[in-house]
Amino acid sequence: MTRNNSKKGKIFTVNSKGFYGSFGGAYIPEILYSNVENLRKSYLEIMKSPDFRRELDSLLKDYAGRPTSLFYAERLSDRYGCKIYLKREDLNHTGAHKINNVLGQVLFAQRLGKTRIIAETGAGQHGVATATVCALMNLKCIVYMGATDMERQYLNVEKMKMLGAEVRPVYSGSKTLKDATNEAIRDWCCNPEDTYYVIGSTVGPHPYPDMVARFQSVISKEIKKQLKAKEGRDYPDYLIACVGGGSNASGTFYEYLEDDRVKLIAAEAAGKGLDSGCSAATIHLGKEGIIHGSRTLVMQTDDGQIEEAYSVSAGLDYPGIGPLQTFLARSKRSEVFAVTDRQALDAAMELTRMEGIIPALESAHAVAVLNLKKFAPLDIVVITVSGRGDKDMETYLKNCDYKNKNHKRS
Ligand SMILES: *Cc1c(COP(=O)(O)O)cnc(C)c1O
Repeated sequence: MTRNNSKKGKIFTVNSKGFYGSFGGAYIPEILYSNVENLRKSYLEIMKSPDFRRELDSLLKDYAGRPTSLFYAERLSDRYGCKIYLKREDLNHTGAHKINNVLGQVLFAQRLGKTRIIAETGAGQHGVATATVCALMNLKCIVYMGATDMERQYLNVEKMKMLGAEVRPVYSGSKTLKDATNEAIRDWCCNPEDTYYVIGSTVGPHPYPDMVARFQSVISKEIKKQLKAKEGRDYPDYLIACVGGGSNASGTFYEYLEDDRVKLIAAEAAGKGLDSGCSAATIHLGKEGIIHGSRTLVMQTDDGQIEEAYSVSAGLDYPGIGPLQTFLARSKRSEVFAVTDRQALDAAMELTRMEGIIPALESAHAVAVLNLKKFAPLDIVVITVSGRGDKDMETYLKNCDYKNKNHKRS
């Protein structure tokens, strides 16, 4: 099929009520209604205004370091028998795609006259990006983080503190991301006047999923231009991205959502395996429910209690998933692979040795799809490397036997 139906109805764009199909919406406590309603009414207008665009574009370019490169991975291409490009979000300031969204939302908060920024963080990447931009803009910043995650991601905690943010430990529940999110929402309920809540992924109540997807869409806008220059056509055959909450995937897919020449592939974390009881594969295992203000798929017990998610990668162990990614999967627009810890670790090692790029463990889940799906020789495959692997060195040290591997070139 070579039909480009971008001129037809945009079925994958959020509707006016905040739904993608039956997923999404804004299930929020009464006290947040006026805040969320205010956001909903103003976000598109503010995001489209010329002075907002100018300021954001200039920060993306000179502060974050965009455009990030689209790198032709020659050795990987030879091995897998197709043309593989890597979209290098790992080259952004603070080491991941998160900054694209945070720059946008903090500018947005300033336009709304908010003076206090709160955020939640799991692995700490979103917290670090938020603390970074608040330092730049001289704004008060409070980051909620599960106590377990604070131990696991000690260095990111210290970075946030060095940047001037207050990191508040959360001791409830499993002391991880979902609990930090609960606590951030609680704070927001108590301080609706002066506080802006910077959500780190395409999750939460409408308009957050759509707003974050739009801020991350810079990824696919660049892919379009870069492919045009390198390949003479502005679309790939396949796009591959990992999915935690869905923001780097949504940004990678955004410009191509309605273009059925482009096949979309999402990689979620199977953890120790789909049947192991230790997994974060929400699309494969989740059931419909409501989490953090949004109707989507949720890892839950039969009586509706949210289950612990597990992945070796701290950025993917969220028991929910953004409503856009759920809708894409359920309507078969995307194909979803569940990638185990081991497959991701091996893919990280392979990318490192073959291309000299140490990826974030999250991103390695996307790279692992190369071993799970067969591509044709002329296929152009773009994989988004959402972040760099510095933060994961300890995990690599523990789980990859690289010290005994020599420098043999294959
Ligand atoms: C946070 C993070 C992710 C997962 O979040 P998404 O919203 O699904 O993109 C993936 N990769 C990296 C490097 C991250 O920091």
